[in-house]
Amino acid sequence: MALSEYAGRSPRGEEDATVVRVVPHRLWRPGRTRTEPCANCGEEMVLSEEHLLVVVDERGTRTRRYFREESCIREWLDGE
Ligand SMILES: [Zn+2]
Repeated sequence: MALSEYAGRSPRGEEDATVVRVVPHRLWRPGRTRTEPCANCGEEMVLSEEHLLVVVDERGTRTRRYFREESCIREWLDGE
């Protein structure tokens, strides 16, 4: 599935949230290692390594969520 096809979908249980876009992402910030848990499975990720960034719109407010891989996004959307 192309990453662009996730746009417009809402995760199960969060009907007010809509996916704006999904992009492969690497955060480059010298001298600092930032980690975030995957928004689906909770696995800790180093953001300087490639992962997927999902921009979510919730009633006009945009937030960023980080996912380890595409299957995590699918589970998050489908509630599997
Ligand atoms: Zn995950």
